[in-house]
Amino acid sequence: MNILHQQHEDRAIGERSSVKDDAIQQVRARIQQATCVTVLTGAGISADSGVPTFRGPEGLWKNFRPEQLASSKAFERDPQLVWGWYNWRRELLATKTPNPAHFALAEMEGHVRNFLLITQNVDGLHITAGSKRVAEIHGNIWKVRCTVCQQVTINREVPLPLLPSCSCGGLLRPHIVWFGETLPAQVLEQSFNALQECDLLLIIGTSGLVYPAASFAPVAKDHGAYVVEVNLDPTPHSDLVDLSIQGRAKDIVPQMLSGVF
Ligand SMILES: [Zn+2]
Repeated sequence: MNILHQQHEDRAIGERSSVKDDAIQQVRARIQQATCVTVLTGAGISADSGVPTFRGPEGLWKNFRPEQLASSKAFERDPQLVWGWYNWRRELLATKTPNPAHFALAEMEGHVRNFLLITQNVDGLHITAGSKRVAEIHGNIWKVRCTVCQQVTINREVPLPLLPSCSCGGLLRPHIVWFGETLPAQVLEQSFNALQECDLLLIIGTSGLVYPAASFAPVAKDHGAYVVEVNLDPTPHSDLVDLSIQGRAKDIVPQMLSGVF
């Protein structure tokens, strides 16, 4: 009885993996045909590099919830506290490196005529991996912005002073889109243009629940794109997309590009 049960399970796993192989083969063909590819990435691709979400218990700092720190109100009230949190996150992120999924996407960019990588992640790992055409819709934790002259600069110093200042004397803040703030208009416009023009949209490691990313798959689909989702679990978009592949980004994404270029 046990042996039969075991055999049945083996067969089921085998069937599932061959379905996955077929799906990956289909994506390879789509990538080969595409002249315009847009990619959307989220926390799932960073999780494969050991980046915590900063929402779960492992991401809490001094028992503050991110909502209590990531807002302009919190920063106005206590900039040192907010910078303390960002210094802690920068210190943690400085130890993280891109994984094979980041590198595969950076390589893909070099082979596709029109390419844009839209990311919700602020850790900068795509840029470290070599991606150049990146729309960071939520900002980048390695950039600072002056609260007076608005100049944005890259700054990888860890830790920064608790009240870092610009050359103009103004207080610097993280170049991050905080709760209650609008997303940068130019980056959004660039993203929606890419979504409307692409033949292929790859959604990697995001459940797509948060606006505006939630609208990305429907927009691309309405404009005729083939939409592929790679995520650990099914998402609210799984029924809308053309292909939904469950698995780790660091395993699936390199497989999707293997032998394509
Ligand atoms: Zn300034």
